[in-house]
Amino acid sequence: MPVPCFVANWKMNKTISEAAVWLREMEKCQPLLPASGWEAILAAPFTALASISEFLKGSALKIHLAAQNVHFEEKGAFTGEISPLMLHDLGCRYVVIGHSERRLQFWETDLLIRQKIKAAGQAGLVPILCVGETRRERKEGKTIRVIHQQLKKGLRSDDPKSGATPNSRKMILDRFIIAYEPVWAIGTGETPTPSEVETVHREIRKFFKPAMGEKADEIQILYGGSVTEQNIEGFMKEPDVDGVLAGGASLSAETFYKMIDRGIKAKNR
Ligand code: PEP
Repeated sequence: MPVPCFVANWKMNKTISEAAVWLREMEKCQPLLPASGWEAILAAPFTALASISEFLKGSALKIHLAAQNVHFEEKGAFTGEISPLMLHDLGCRYVVIGHSERRLQFWETDLLIRQKIKAAGQAGLVPILCVGETRRERKEGKTIRVIHQQLKKGLRSDDPKSGATPNSRKMILDRFIIAYEPVWAIGTGETPTPSEVETVHREIRKFFKPAMGEKADEIQILYGGSVTEQNIEGFMKEPDVDGVLAGGASLSAETFYKMIDRGIKAKNR
C-alpha cells in the first residue's frame, strides 16, 4: 500500500515571514500525529524555498519541500526561469508539474510538461504530475480519455522498443506521484463524490499496469480540488486514494494538520 501523502500547495501566497509562522505552527501540532506511516509535502513559492529549507534543517518537522514549477533546462539563457538543478540545490525533493493553473493560464502543453518531468527526474526530483478534466470534458463524458492522454503524453516512453505493445511502453522515469485534480473542482468548493474519485483513481492505476505490473500498486495517487478538513475523510476512505493535494485549505497550518490527522485515521480504519 502506498504511504498516505498530503501535499500543501500554497500557490502564489505567503511571504517569507508568513511562511515562518506556518512552519512554527506545524512544528507545534505535528508531534500529535503518528511518528511514521504518512508523509507531507509543502509546495511553496520560489521566494520562500530557501528560508523554508534552512528552517527544516534545524527542525524535527517532518515535511518535504516542493516547488510549484520548474524549467526543463539545467541552465542557460532563460530569463526568469528556475532549473531542476537549482531546486535540488535548494533542498527540494519534489516539484508540482502540469497543474491546471499552469496548463490553462500559462499555456503549458503536454509536450512542455513531459520535458519538465524528464528534466526533474534527471535532476533527482520527484514530479507530482497533475491531471484532470475540465467541466465541459466531464459533461461530454471524456474524463477518462482526457486523463489517459495527459498520462500518456506526460509519462509514457515514445520509444517503440520500450514495450511489446504501445500500452506496455515504459514510463520515462520510475518515481512520480499523480494528482487527480478535476479543473472544475479547484478552488470552487465543488467536488466529485468520493466514489467518482475512486473510479478515476482506479483507471489511473490501471493505466500503469501493463508497463509497471505490481509497481503500479505503489504509485501514490492523490486527489485535489476543494479538499477541506470536513470532506477529507470521505476521499481518504477510498482504497485508491493515497492522499490529497490541498490549495486553499493548506494555507492554515492548523487546518492542514487536521487534514493530515483525519486523513491518516480514515485510511487506518
Ligand atoms: C490546488 O491547488 O491544486 C487545489 C486543489 O486547490 P484547492 O484545494 O484550493 O481547490
